[in-house]
Amino acid sequence: MTTVQYPTSPASKLAIDQLKALRARLTGNLITAESAEYDEARRVFSLLVNRRPLAIVRAANAQDVATGVRFARTHSLPLAVRSGGHSVGHHSVIDDGVVLDLSAMKQIVIDPVTRIARVGAGATSGDLAGPASAHGLALSTGDTHSVGMGGLTTGGGIGFMVRKYGLAIDNLLAAQVVTAAGEIVTASPDAHPDLFWAIRGGGGNFGVVTEFTFQLAAVGQILGGDLVLPATREVLRGYLDYVAVAPDELTTIAHLMHAPPTPYMPPERVGEPVLSILLCWMGSVEDGERALAPLRALATPIAEAVGPMPYPAIYQFTAHQAQPLAASIRSMFADELSDATLDAALAALDRATSPYSAIQFRGLGGAMARASNDATAFAHRDKRYLVLLLAIWLDATEDAARHQSWTTGLWEAIRAEGAGVYVNFLENEGAARLRDAYPSATLARLRAIKHRYDPQNLFRFNQNILPNVDGAERQLGRVQTNR
Ligand SMILES: Cc1cc2nc3c(=O)[nH]c(=O)nc-3n(C[C@H](O)[C@H](O)[C@H](O)COP(=O)(O)OP(=O)(O)OC[C@H]3O[C@@H](n4cnc5c(N)ncnc54)[C@H](O)[C@@H]3O)c2cc1C
Repeated sequence: MTTVQYPTSPASKLAIDQLKALRARLTGNLITAESAEYDEARRVFSLLVNRRPLAIVRAANAQDVATGVRFARTHSLPLAVRSGGHSVGHHSVIDDGVVLDLSAMKQIVIDPVTRIARVGAGATSGDLAGPASAHGLALSTGDTHSVGMGGLTTGGGIGFMVRKYGLAIDNLLAAQVVTAAGEIVTASPDAHPDLFWAIRGGGGNFGVVTEFTFQLAAVGQILGGDLVLPATREVLRGYLDYVAVAPDELTTIAHLMHAPPTPYMPPERVGEPVLSILLCWMGSVEDGERALAPLRALATPIAEAVGPMPYPAIYQFTAHQAQPLAASIRSMFADELSDATLDAALAALDRATSPYSAIQFRGLGGAMARASNDATAFAHRDKRYLVLLLAIWLDATEDAARHQSWTTGLWEAIRAEGAGVYVNFLENEGAARLRDAYPSATLARLRAIKHRYDPQNLFRFNQNILPNVDGAERQLGRVQTNR
């Protein structure tokens, strides 16, 4: 355990005794500006974030989290919550406040008989995938191994198995949550069901999840990899038409991008505009080969690296995006994408301001669409596609505005075809976009639950849902609560 030094500048003198007392109550670490690990601890995934918290509570358990929550509340300090640190809106580290850092809470306990996993909220998709795979099991999470389960799951969780096994939240049986009052509660269909509904898509607004209980799926080998096709409107249209009607066993994530220098890319094709289709088939290899045939028939592949593999191996195809980077992102769900939109995306790729930028298309449906839109706070289950505009650069000193204008330029051209947005892919885009994330009935219910669990809006560094003070109880409707 690290010895903690306390701030000595006049401005922070008042806090010394309080920080000492906090330190004494923690099993985990208290990290301040004078701690050796301060710079490492305040670093997150985005290279654009460089903030200096007053204190980072690196929690070891739920009690530490509760202690941190009570400390922030008692001293009226701003409080941010961090698990994997991948916040697209840069919410998980703040200046001059307290950061509740769950990244050390990575415990994973798997019962191979019941296929139930208890997962610390600081674990990443990759942390879980390996141990689960050792039992022939897997959880539907995201597309990148480094993303934290804390933020991913509370937003929904859309990944390589979404069409076969739904969102991450569709496999959530219960969660341990520290509320704004500093209480440690269980949220499940039977206990705090309103809270359980809200944390399945409502983000970090309602409390700090310290542990998730998931039902894992029996997943042995998958047929997975990357199929790289020429970037033409016909190929893109063929891809979009097929992935909306393909068997549920097939989930795909495609990127319009410049061909990267992967080991399987012919060197002379590197840099060419391509549609790189990441594939995950959950079934027999023979059936999978049949299911992939319509994609291979769209054009002569430029490159292909597809084969049987254990599920965690699919993350090697996205390992490049697990490295810290700078990004400007816009995204939308869509049901129909016109030729004009596809042409705009292809043209934007030609004038991309960075060789790493991409336009991502995911086919949805399948298991995700089988629950009703009001089953959870994630309310976009009926959408056919997810589209992401990703300006990505690796040097934080580059002109961010230039890259951002690429993203927003394309966004303005295509946003009319958007049908809502995934809360986890929102930057700080204003209140109107929060209404795109949550239809009005969902938002009203979330605001009522927010009022019940966090009336002072302690948890506000997120896509913030304001507590509904007037008529909150009425808007709870038929939602039960044990609180
Ligand atoms: C490279 C990359 C790839 C991605 N791919 C996918 C994908 O395939 N599918 C997908 O669904 N999403 C994806 N995302 C989005 C991702 O789900 C969100 O950014 C998510 O918030 C990250 O979670 P985190 O724990 O890593 O982030 P953090 O930055 O630690 O947290 C983000 C926010 O989540 C909330 N939060 C975090 N932990 C907790 C907790 N324990 N309890 C309550 N609230 C909490 C807080 O409000 C916090 O500000 C991706 C993001 C990146 C950067």
